[in-house]
Amino acid sequence: MHAQQFASDNYAGICPEAMAAITEANVGSAGGYGDDGWTRRATDAVRALFDTECDMFLVFNGTAANALALAACCQSYHAVICAERAHVDVDEASAPEFFSGGAKLLVARGADGKLAPGHVTSLAEARRDVHFAKPRAVTISQTTENGLVYRPAEIAAIGAASHAQGLHLHMDGARFANAVAALNCHPADITWKAGVDVLSFGGTKNGMAVSEAVVFFNRDLARDFAWRRKQAGQLASKMRFLAAPWAAMLPSGGWLANARHANEAAARFAAAVTRIDARLLRYPTQANGVFLTLPENLAAALRARGWVFYTFAGNVSRFMFGWDADIARVDALAADLAELHAAAANAA
Ligand SMILES: *Cc1c(COP(=O)(O)O)cnc(C)c1O
Repeated sequence: MHAQQFASDNYAGICPEAMAAITEANVGSAGGYGDDGWTRRATDAVRALFDTECDMFLVFNGTAANALALAACCQSYHAVICAERAHVDVDEASAPEFFSGGAKLLVARGADGKLAPGHVTSLAEARRDVHFAKPRAVTISQTTENGLVYRPAEIAAIGAASHAQGLHLHMDGARFANAVAALNCHPADITWKAGVDVLSFGGTKNGMAVSEAVVFFNRDLARDFAWRRKQAGQLASKMRFLAAPWAAMLPSGGWLANARHANEAAARFAAAVTRIDARLLRYPTQANGVFLTLPENLAAALRARGWVFYTFAGNVSRFMFGWDADIARVDALAADLAELHAAAANAA
């Protein structure tokens, strides 16, 4: 057993509720490829959660969810507008381009990884001629890659700007649960009521073993998606083991409890950092990620004490908190940071 690290929220294991659901589903035989009671209950649970009729397809990971959702929005000659540092652009090995057969990603510069309606309009209107890819979709990440949360009105404005240009709106919700917990809103308020056509709803970072739900609020876009998922190698034959945690954790509220805990751990660490030196905080802490601007020597000293974390361009170090964040470990990280920060200040 290794000491807990906060490099990513996917360092966490499977939460007890998801594990119990998998074990409970492990009885006798059941139909394959989603023709089973757990998958039907998971679909019903998603519809109940969002309080609307929608289509839901489970896939194995977030890259597949995003790439296939965007492919469902686009032809090969289309373009997708996204924010700088969007996971679809920088962390998916061109899967969205590949699965759409060539759709181009148009990256909106600026605005700290967060898209604004103006980005949508200006990129959609920049080129309309036949020589350039035709804008067809917009994708936003909720929460964003730098831990920020779009408020319902912000999404509604992006939704309106997108639809005014004839663009579909996709949401990369790898951390959708953390956003709902942070906003304390109804899941519908930041999805279909705000104009989201299709959502990649993350289960893995929320505490499940493997699975993300592709949720189509615009059901026309779901046409033939079953074949798209199968062709991509994302149709689980023993689907019940992906579905069972969804069928359990959505109705019980376990998904939200996990996200709340993760957010609280991040808030606790951010509060400690504020006491050490508030200038270290690179972004406001709004969900389960804390982003610090750490001088290289301080980052190295933390690593020398065994802490594992990612550092991105510009000395931005990221700490992500999962459903299992151990508060004693969070405090230990903060204590080490305080001590090393003070030592560095004395040495200077
Ligand atoms: C983790 C993550 C995903 C999913 O990535 P996979 O490793 O493919 O499951 C998607 N989007 C964002 C913003 C993420 O952080």
